[in-house]
Amino acid sequence: MFTDKEAFKEAFVDDLVGKLGKPLEEASIADVYHILGSMVRAQTGKNWANTNLKYKAGREKQVYYFSMEFLIGRLLGNNLLNMGVLEMVRDGLSELGFSLQDVEEEEADAGLGNGGLGRLAACFLDSLASLQYAGHGCGIRYKYGLFEQKIVDGYQVELPDYWLQKDNVWEVRREDKSVEVRFWGRVDIDKVGDKLVFRHKDYEAVRAVPYDVPIIGADRRHVNTLRNWSAESILRPDSALGLEPGTDYHKFLEYKRSVESISEFLYPDDSEYEGKLLRLKQQYFLCSAGLQSILRTFGKLGLPLSELPNKVALHINDTHPTLVIPELMRILMDDRGLEWDEAWNITTRMVSYTNHTILSEALEKWPVNMVRELVPRVYLIIDEINTRFCAELMRRYPGDQNRISQMAIIYDDQVRMAHLAIVGSHSVNGVAALHTDILRKREMRLFDEMYPHRFNNKTNGITHRRWLMHANRDLAGLITDAIGTRWMTHPQEMIGLIKYCEDSSFQQKIAEIKRKNKLRLAEYIKSRHNVTVDPDSIFDVQVKRLHAYKRQLLNILHIMHLYNQIKASPGIDIVPRTFIFAAKAAPSYHLAKRIIKLINTVADIVNRDSDVNGKIRIFFLENYSVSLAEKIIPAADVSEQISTASKEASGTGNMKFMMNGALTIGTMDGANVEMNEMIGNENMFLFGLRAEQVMDYYQYGGYNARGMYNSDSRVKEVLDQLITPGPICCYHQDFEHIYHSLLDNNDEFFVLKDFPSYVETHVEIDRAYRNRSGWLKKSIINIGHSGKFSSDNTISRYASEIWNIRQVPL
Ligand SMILES: *Cc1c(COP(=O)(O)O)cnc(C)c1O
Repeated sequence: MFTDKEAFKEAFVDDLVGKLGKPLEEASIADVYHILGSMVRAQTGKNWANTNLKYKAGREKQVYYFSMEFLIGRLLGNNLLNMGVLEMVRDGLSELGFSLQDVEEEEADAGLGNGGLGRLAACFLDSLASLQYAGHGCGIRYKYGLFEQKIVDGYQVELPDYWLQKDNVWEVRREDKSVEVRFWGRVDIDKVGDKLVFRHKDYEAVRAVPYDVPIIGADRRHVNTLRNWSAESILRPDSALGLEPGTDYHKFLEYKRSVESISEFLYPDDSEYEGKLLRLKQQYFLCSAGLQSILRTFGKLGLPLSELPNKVALHINDTHPTLVIPELMRILMDDRGLEWDEAWNITTRMVSYTNHTILSEALEKWPVNMVRELVPRVYLIIDEINTRFCAELMRRYPGDQNRISQMAIIYDDQVRMAHLAIVGSHSVNGVAALHTDILRKREMRLFDEMYPHRFNNKTNGITHRRWLMHANRDLAGLITDAIGTRWMTHPQEMIGLIKYCEDSSFQQKIAEIKRKNKLRLAEYIKSRHNVTVDPDSIFDVQVKRLHAYKRQLLNILHIMHLYNQIKASPGIDIVPRTFIFAAKAAPSYHLAKRIIKLINTVADIVNRDSDVNGKIRIFFLENYSVSLAEKIIPAADVSEQISTASKEASGTGNMKFMMNGALTIGTMDGANVEMNEMIGNENMFLFGLRAEQVMDYYQYGGYNARGMYNSDSRVKEVLDQLITPGPICCYHQDFEHIYHSLLDNNDEFFVLKDFPSYVETHVEIDRAYRNRSGWLKKSIINIGHSGKFSSDNTISRYASEIWNIRQVPL
């Protein structure tokens, strides 16, 4: 049905009329989405089945990527792209009177993740399938994704994201693949012969039902699986709960409600640990259900358990799925009868772990009591892992009590998940060179010393299919015109663009595409804010989660300073700028929410002030999400990547902007460092403290925020505006808090310290933008080098250096 346009149109109309029983003329956009999506899904079915048969027949080693978050966004456009029929379908629909773009907008944006970590998992799935690897996702089918953000009176308001209300054509419920997950209860220990036998009694059983989503690779033939688990009550609750059949209906309802809450919603905290019982339940639910189904698949191969590490790799995305380790031990020992040593050998050879942060507030630590009560048998295993690990430490470092307290898995009545993940796996990777370096030399130094080959780096990546070929079709077309099509499968060949960086006709084409993208975003802004945006102004963009370390505050304070300059000398000669923000704050993160209010307050004042005369404009676009990112990023001239050095583990937003030709203003943090290595200081705008300096300040002190305030009149002026009567401070309670975080709490993220160099660097940007040809040259150099950041590159390194899996041609 997708062989050519006429065949497609005919199949589409047949399907639509046949299924909906109405003529084409009466079809709504939602109808078109439903029919087209179902056609794609149906078309995929055969390839999906074939892929699985091939993996099974070849007994291929498969990797399972466990993640509490998959921020996949919309799938229709990407699936059509990877199937190689996007243009044909676009034309066909258009001839039938529909716009594919409108149809794509009809799909719910699956927000089953918070930000970078969840988006990384989604990019990885795309690369795994596209590179023909046997690699699948293992996640939770949250009924409610990340909240929808509205801005009301400048404040963030959160609305539930009931994404399933819209038609989800992709998932397939696999009732027959359900498994049982057990919580609570107690463990009876018997001795049989000289062997201890552990029996989990009086547990509460939960049914885990998988919903499979096909992940279509770029050759269309490879279709892997994202298996999302949903929690449901078990079919015969009477027997499971020990109830007399039909007697205690109330108790059953209570049970049902409690069970269904497990996959009810995604926790909206990014880079923050929340010690909530329900969250721990979610984690164990994912790990146990995922492992049971993986072991069932392995069982069909008819191989001994000792073959497991040769056929299955388990990857955990941050520590959230660390319970995979003790749960696998439990299954291997209690259900399959292996001894500890053999089970441990198998487990550690199968599991690998990615560390995503060194922020101490994000390191997971679960209270011993909570773990022991919720998953008693799993707790016993964690305790035993800890005991053996501490004994090993004692052997290697006799008498070094201090080392044991620093490294123990259980300490101070808490389970340290990162330690469990390091000890129970064979590979620990950081997500950018700098981050891995900090892990090895500082945060996890003792572990690196003990396990020198375990730590390694895998710099994050983004899929160039979604973020360039789909989000910026014109740029992709221009690249192909210049260097042919090979870059699509070998993105590092985009480097071939460099030879055009001074070619004025190529530069002109780059400029035209950027302008077109800016006009499109301007239209979107106009539809939301009813303000006309100047497409010839510099689009200066910071879009990402709102977090103190990401320093949206530095950005808005600089804008306040610019505004002060314009008020002081209205004739000032600056290139007009449009500052664009988008960011969700965790609902309980008060400082972050006040910063949103500040941005909106300043935007209100500046955008309405006739003295400003369009020199600067500020927009906060609500509800940042994958689909909004796809609209904004191709239109950016300047990419703000301004985290406090050492705090952003990698960043992936930075890579998306680079690939779309924006120039970065950034600190030497995360993957910005590697970007800088590739393109040099002349093609990006670096500023601020280096990571070493930041960490030295933390360690030895010596930073005085109030000193900055007293010695820099620009700093003093903007900070005073937060708290003295005037148009801004009428919200004084909100902004006083910001003021105090900077001055009384000594500015934990060095906003004031980096302010002068940030201001100067923005002056440089203004100067550089005036040289059109120079700017476009830099832009082309950025695009040319960005192929290195394709997640295809990242995934091939995971595959060969961590998972030991090979490509499986079909
Ligand atoms: C890429 C992406 C992120 C991560 O952005 P950073 O700038 O790396 O923090 C977060 N949210 C969405 C929707 C994204 O697409």
